[in-house]
Amino acid sequence: MLEFNQEQIDILSGIVGSERFSVGESNRKLHCRDISPHRGTNPAGVIWPVDTEEVSRILSFAYRQSIPVTPWGAGTSTEGNPIPTKGGLVMDMTQMNRIFEIRPQDFQVDLQPGVLRKELNRKLGTYGLFFPPDPGADATIGGMIANNASGVQTVKYGATADYVMKLVVVLPDGKVIHTGCKAHKSSSGYCLTRLFVGSEGTLGVVTEATLRVAGIPSHTLAVTVTFAELKDASEAVFVMIGSGLEPAALELLTPELIGLMNNEKALNLPEVPCLFCEFHGISRSALLEIAELAKELCEDCGASGFKFGIEEAERKELWRARHEAWETINRSHPGKETLIVDAAVPISRYPEMIVFAQNLVEEKQVLGYVFGHAGDGNLHVVLVGDPGDERQWRVLEDINHRIVERAIEVGGTCTGEHGVGIGKRKFMSLEHGDSYDLMRRLKELVDPKGIMNPGKIFT
Ligand SMILES: Cc1cc2nc3c(=O)[nH]c(=O)nc-3n(C[C@H](O)[C@H](O)[C@H](O)COP(=O)(O)OP(=O)(O)OC[C@H]3O[C@@H](n4cnc5c(N)ncnc54)[C@H](O)[C@@H]3O)c2cc1C
Repeated sequence: MLEFNQEQIDILSGIVGSERFSVGESNRKLHCRDISPHRGTNPAGVIWPVDTEEVSRILSFAYRQSIPVTPWGAGTSTEGNPIPTKGGLVMDMTQMNRIFEIRPQDFQVDLQPGVLRKELNRKLGTYGLFFPPDPGADATIGGMIANNASGVQTVKYGATADYVMKLVVVLPDGKVIHTGCKAHKSSSGYCLTRLFVGSEGTLGVVTEATLRVAGIPSHTLAVTVTFAELKDASEAVFVMIGSGLEPAALELLTPELIGLMNNEKALNLPEVPCLFCEFHGISRSALLEIAELAKELCEDCGASGFKFGIEEAERKELWRARHEAWETINRSHPGKETLIVDAAVPISRYPEMIVFAQNLVEEKQVLGYVFGHAGDGNLHVVLVGDPGDERQWRVLEDINHRIVERAIEVGGTCTGEHGVGIGKRKFMSLEHGDSYDLMRRLKELVDPKGIMNPGKIFT
């Protein structure tokens, strides 16, 4: 559906008021691209609900009229997840941004899905709390729930799924359901909360959530470790995790990426394979003991340099540079487009995957930056290409394909954290076999008319 008729416009405007529904060209264009190279179709309109009741009324109308509805958070996805593929309505969740209650005594927060991650952490910080999943981008909580986002601290703290306790979801026909509870554990039937986490808006719209949160660690220690060989760096990851050191972050960076970061941020890091690590603990002396052990283990793996005692300002700068890796790559290659490879493997297979990806980039002679959340076996390659050069783009797609296939072959997944969206649909059968069929049947059961975010997860 590419345009709404006047009656539809009147009904949708009537639900939210004319200032929160738009069929204007610029609003429609702003809601048909995330940061991926995938292209969808312009939506016929964009709507900004503010509460569950409005979402319910919008969906029951859309359901009756078979209008496709695509929820939209901050639009920072990398696989085309929030891009409408059949026009229809984009439901922008950013005005559903209320934090209802922070309950420090329960380590919980109740909120709406349009709350931004950084804003949530600012508010939680005043209670000595934080929400650990950290995709770097200032995503909405709803987008993080829908993609099961994770990030640099997942190695210690887990992914978004580990923090979602309770949801209010509006189903495609407008019915409102509650899933989960506020107790720390439950064995009560099927875990529907978990079904909606990672469902990318294909089963309904999350309108409220109760999240578990964590206490801000009293002491942190940042460490950088350098290696002559990439393989040694990735093996040190495996050894550190296996030794029970419990790093709070363990990131691997290759020399090419460090080179770009040095240029842009004057980090002065040696341009060799490098690990950025962070440890959290109850005292500085305990952390220093851990760092000593980490140093020994890394040196046994061939580390050439080990730096700890990094000051707070430098620590923040290092993490800012790491979080902005994608932006740095983009700024360093103006006029180009990026394809972000995201795959995850069992930790023991990480070293060979990293070397496989790096060799592939070199063999194909393309611009590609290998890095990743090494501590949880998550590998990224940012491939850079000319959007107009179809031949080159096919080479990049082929590299993506081969890395993902290899990850699945060794027992991993086609997406560690970015979700399926449009880009990873083609790998779902290979990864899930018959379970993919069950997923499709679940989708048909919950959304028989297929109005919710069509064209995602399933082809
Ligand atoms: C520089 C950069 C770095 C990144 N690094 C990481 C990383 O380290 N880890 C990681 O996990 N991701 C990363 N991402 C990807 C992205 O930030 C995350 O996937 C994030 O969770 C997307 O949130 P969003 O608010 O932008 O959602 P959107 O992109 O707007 O939407 C994501 C999905 O959620 C659905 N959705 C949104 N709101 C709702 C709702 N209320 N109910 C139901 N469905 C909804 C949409 O339909 C879509 O399918 C990165 C992105 C960028 C730009």
